[in-house]
Amino acid sequence: MNSHGRMHITMVKKMLEGGRACDKCLQAEQLLRNKGLWDKVNEVLWAVEGDANSQGMLIAANKGITLAPFFIVKNENGTERTYDSVLKFVKECFGPEQSSASTSTDTKDAAPDPMNPHRSEEMTLTESALAEISEQLQNSSPQQIVNWVLGRYGKDCTLSFSGAEDVMLIDLAKKSGHAFSVFTLDTGRLHPETYEFIERVREHYDVSIEVLWPEMVKVQDLVRNKGLFSFYEEGHAECCAIRKVEPLGRALGKYRAWLTGQRRDQSPTRNNVAIAQLDAAHRGPAGPLLKLNPLATLSQQQVWTYLREQGVPYNPLHDRGFVSIGCAPCTRAVRPGEHERAGRWWWEDVTKRECGLHVAPPGANDGAGP
Ligand code: SF4
Repeated sequence: MNSHGRMHITMVKKMLEGGRACDKCLQAEQLLRNKGLWDKVNEVLWAVEGDANSQGMLIAANKGITLAPFFIVKNENGTERTYDSVLKFVKECFGPEQSSASTSTDTKDAAPDPMNPHRSEEMTLTESALAEISEQLQNSSPQQIVNWVLGRYGKDCTLSFSGAEDVMLIDLAKKSGHAFSVFTLDTGRLHPETYEFIERVREHYDVSIEVLWPEMVKVQDLVRNKGLFSFYEEGHAECCAIRKVEPLGRALGKYRAWLTGQRRDQSPTRNNVAIAQLDAAHRGPAGPLLKLNPLATLSQQQVWTYLREQGVPYNPLHDRGFVSIGCAPCTRAVRPGEHERAGRWWWEDVTKRECGLHVAPPGANDGAGP
C-alpha cells in the first residue's frame, strides 16, 4: 500500500504502435513528477495499441475506459476508484492544494518535459534537456538506459549493428519489451563471416535488420580513380566517408534517437564518451538526435561476460583473434597484449583509427566509432 493515505495506485499508460508512450501519458507522468507525486504511483501497466490482450487494454475494456492515461486507486478498506483525469486524481487523492495547476486541460500546460523531447514535431532536444537526461541516467545500468530510451522513442530509436557490443544492445532491447529499430551498413567489403553473423542475429532475435549500402556511383568513382585499396596509401578517411559515413547519415535521418555500443576503454578517442549526447552531426526529422551510449562505462571483459552468460550470438572471427571487426581489408587479428583497436587500420596513427561514424563537431564531447 502507498504510504500516502495507504492507497495502492496503478497508472495505465498507452503504448503507441511505434513502441513509445503516448504524449499525454508522458505529460501526465511529468506533471506528477513536478508535484513530487510520481513515487506515489505503485505500478504502471501498458495498454498497447493494437494489442487487445495487453494488460492495460484488458483493464480499460473491463472498466469501459477509452482515455489514456487513467489511474486506479485501491484504498485499504477495499474500495476502488478510477480516474481518467490526472488533475482530478491528484485533487481527490492528495488534496486541492496539489491540484492547483494553471492548465485548462489536465496536461496541456504541463512543465516542459525533458524526458519526452519529441512531444511535438517542432520541439527539438535542448542542451538543458540533455543535461537533465544525463543526470537521470548517469548511475543507471545498461538495461535501465535501454528501457528508458525505448520506452520513450520505440521504433524512433535505432541501433547501428556491427560488433559484439551492438548485439548486447539488441539483447537488452529485446529484454526491454519495447519496439526498436536496427540497421547495419554493408560497405561491400565485409568478411563472409560477418554476413553470416548478421543473418544469425536476425534469426536469433527475430528482428528486422535494415541493410544500407553506399551510393553506387560514389563507390565506382573512387575505385575507378584510385583502385580498390587506396586506403593503404592515402588513409581510410575517403573510403570510409563513402562506404560508411554517408549511408549512416542517410539511415539516421529517419530517427530521433540512436543507441551505440561505444565504450570508453576502446580507444584514446573514446575515453570521454558520455552516456547521453546530443548528436549534432546527424539530424532526424525533429532535429539533432539523442545519442545514448549505454555501455560507455563497461570494460571489454564485462561485455564478454554478459555475452557468454546470456548466450548472445557473436561473430566467429572473435574466436580467431579478431576483437574489433570492420571491413576485411582493414581488420586483422590482434596479437596477445595488443590493444583491442590495434587490429583496425593498423598502418595509421592510433589517433586516426576511427571511421567517422561518431565524429562530433568541434567542441562536442564525443568520441568516435566502430
Ligand atoms: S574500413 Fe576500410 S574498406 Fe571499410 S570503408 Fe573504411 S577504408 Fe573502406
